[in-house]
Amino acid sequence: MLSVKTEQSAVPWDAVFAALETWYVRQENGATADTAAADPAVTAIAGLYRQDPWAVLVSTILSLRTKDEVTRTASERLLKKAPDPAALLSLGEEETARLAYPAGFYRTKAANLMKIACILLERDAGRVPADMDALLALPGVGRKTANLVLSEAFGIDAICVDIHVHRISNRMGWFGPEGTAAPDETEAALRAVLPKKYWRRINTLLVRYGQIVCRPVSPFCSRCVVGGWCSGYGVGKTR
Ligand code: SF4
Repeated sequence: MLSVKTEQSAVPWDAVFAALETWYVRQENGATADTAAADPAVTAIAGLYRQDPWAVLVSTILSLRTKDEVTRTASERLLKKAPDPAALLSLGEEETARLAYPAGFYRTKAANLMKIACILLERDAGRVPADMDALLALPGVGRKTANLVLSEAFGIDAICVDIHVHRISNRMGWFGPEGTAAPDETEAALRAVLPKKYWRRINTLLVRYGQIVCRPVSPFCSRCVVGGWCSGYGVGKTR
């Protein structure tokens, strides 16, 4: 059982999220070619396909270890030919892999998508389940994928922890100086302390913040809007 080290009362969640939201809107309105970051690819695909769970699941799987712009184009290319599990099965694994290219590990992802399509068709007429355990039972689906599908496709309160959320929340000191060792541990820690109203939003905010300000190497602490609440744990050189 995870021991949660966060002192919840010490984190002014409303103030932190208000500052991040203000930054996000300002960044959207005033972004230049140098500073702009696209919407996270899965969020963009979810919007494009009106939260269709199959589209969200496919793009989330393609997004693993893949850049946002590649995820988006590969997802659109594949979903055009495979708008549902039955259509994907008709395409076949080779063609699925070809359409998924150059997403990272596209051959493995194509093989997993074929298996997933089979399972979904056998289980519930191709429907994607709105349930964490059922999603985790699908090949190639981990907690990050399952949480993103629950949040983006079904509007369920879920915390999707990727490398940005994991890194920034640890730097901020939300889990004390020892921090958390891995994204799954971070998710459990956040579930224990983060007010539910921020569960679905934290991923979008921190992914973009991590791409532009709180970068993995040499973050821009001098222009950080939440620096006043940041412990700077594990941060080396800054700008
Ligand atoms: S102060 Fe620096 S390390 Fe802390 S959140 Fe801001 S950019 Fe990241």
